[in-house]
Amino acid sequence: MAKGMFVDTTICTGCKACQVACKQWNGLSAEPAHFGKRPGVPYPVADNFTGDSYDNTGTLSATDWRHVRFIEQIDESRREKRWLFSSDSCKHCSDAGCLNACPTKAIVRTDLGNVVVQQETCIGCKFCIPSCPYGVISFSEETGTAHKCTLCNDRIHNGLGTACAKACPTGSIRFGELADLKKRADARLAQLKGKGEQARIYGYEEADGLNVFYLFADRPKVYGQPEDPVVPQRRLVLCSLVTILTALGVGAAALVSFRERLNGRDEEENHES
Ligand code: SF4
Ligand code: SF4
Repeated sequence: MAKGMFVDTTICTGCKACQVACKQWNGLSAEPAHFGKRPGVPYPVADNFTGDSYDNTGTLSATDWRHVRFIEQIDESRREKRWLFSSDSCKHCSDAGCLNACPTKAIVRTDLGNVVVQQETCIGCKFCIPSCPYGVISFSEETGTAHKCTLCNDRIHNGLGTACAKACPTGSIRFGELADLKKRADARLAQLKGKGEQARIYGYEEADGLNVFYLFADRPKVYGQPEDPVVPQRRLVLCSLVTILTALGVGAAALVSFRERLNGRDEEENHES
């Protein structure tokens, strides 16, 4: 039975317990502090922190497999405002671009449906990085390999849930069987819609379905997710088809033109004789 996670962003409080639990369980090092001098600032400034939001890591990385995104929406009059939060990670896609692209088969799908980078066979070619439509997978200069969330592969194969879901105090992240999670997500969506709130599920349709899916209160792009994610290898199939059809068309046109020239020459010869 495939396992996954349902992330109900509408009840996330941005506490980052999930982000900390992920680092702790997976033994991921803290972000290196790149303190440097900035003109006009008398004290050292950490360049890799955003510094203008509580979202201080800003993105997923080889050592940040989970990232709580803070979205601050303030209208022009500055009277209406809301904060949206979204705890993001690898989506463990049904059609995983990263896995399709890996030339050494270092990226595999386990019997529980999660997608894992096997560090021993990763050669650091980085092919997987542009193949992920969500910008999830990152290269580590330290190990020379690609890294991302494993859906706590060791925990879930030993009967435990993911560390992030376990740590989340509001139940925003749920781990379980996909069918059960979808029932929960549908019920929550109906509840919100019943109250007239804007809500949508992200991950049922996208790229053949995501094993980690979300309930959003706004458009996916507001949460930094592609509206219409495309697995690159599918685009490749489409491009190849277009190339073949174009080549066939050019060949047919050349054949027609050749025949016309032959016919013209025959007519000229008949005329002369
Ligand atoms: S989200 Fe990206 S890294 Fe995760 S399985 Fe899908 S393609 Fe791979
Ligand atoms: S632990 Fe739960 S509530 Fe806290 S930031 Fe993560 S998802 Fe949101």
